[in-house]
Amino acid sequence: MLAVPNDWRLAAVRIGRSLDRRAGLLVGGEDVERCVELAYFLWCVRSADGTVVVIDAGFTDRAACDHTIVDYVSPQDALDELGIDAAMVKTVVITHLHWDHMGGFESFPSARFLVARSEWDWTIGRLGDTSRMLDETYDRAGLREIATLHPSRVELVEDGHTPVPGCRLEVVGGHTPGHTVVRVSTRNGDVALLGDLAYLSANVSLEVAPMICFDRWRTRDLYGSYRSESLRLVPGHDPAVLDMLDERLSPTIAIIK
Ligand SMILES: [Zn+2]
Repeated sequence: MLAVPNDWRLAAVRIGRSLDRRAGLLVGGEDVERCVELAYFLWCVRSADGTVVVIDAGFTDRAACDHTIVDYVSPQDALDELGIDAAMVKTVVITHLHWDHMGGFESFPSARFLVARSEWDWTIGRLGDTSRMLDETYDRAGLREIATLHPSRVELVEDGHTPVPGCRLEVVGGHTPGHTVVRVSTRNGDVALLGDLAYLSANVSLEVAPMICFDRWRTRDLYGSYRSESLRLVPGHDPAVLDMLDERLSPTIAIIK
C-alpha cells in the first residue's frame, strides 16, 4: 500500500503510455518521423475539507488496445493506489471530449461530469458528421453513451466555474472548441493544468501547437498569455510531468501539497 500524505492538493496519476507517436505531429521540427513517448494522466484536486475532484475520466482497456497504449491501468485501479474510490467520486471535470479524456466515464458511477458548454455543443452537434476526421480523435460510441447522461449527470459549465474552492475552470478553446484549462491554487503557488493545449512542455517553450488542434493560432497565443503569468504550467501528455510536481509517490503518481 502506498504511503500517501494527507495534505496533498494536486495529484497526477499516470494511466498509460504510448511509444509510437510521431514527433512531427506533436511539436513540428525537422525530425518528423522520430517517435516520442506520451503519457496519459488523470488529475485529482483535493480541497481543504478533503473533497476530491477528478480531472478527466481516462479511457477503457479496449481503447488502450486500439490506441497501442502500454502500461495501461484502469482509472479505478490508478485512483485506488492514491486511496481514492472512483465509485465514490462525485465530480469529474472533462477538459475536452477526445477519446483519452472522456472514454473512462463509466469508472465513475456516482459522478457528475462537468463539461464546457461550448465543448459539448460543438462535439455532440458533430456526432452525425461522417467525416473520418472525427474518428481520429473522438470516440463516437463513447460520446453517444455520455450524451445519454445529459442533463442528469452531465453539467454544462461556463468559463470561471469553480467546482471546489481554489480550483477554477478556464474555458479557453484552442485545442478543441471548448477546451478547458484547470487552474489550481496550492501552497507552492498556482498551477495551470493545460490539458491538451500543450501535449509536451516543448509546445509551450517553442510556441508550436500540436498538429491535432482545432485552432493552432489561438493555442499559440494562449501559450504566450499563460507564460506571462507567474504560474506553473503543466502540459497534458509529457512523461516529465511526474518529475515536474513536488513529490513522487510511486512510478505513476506525483503530488503537489
Ligand atoms: Zn489527450
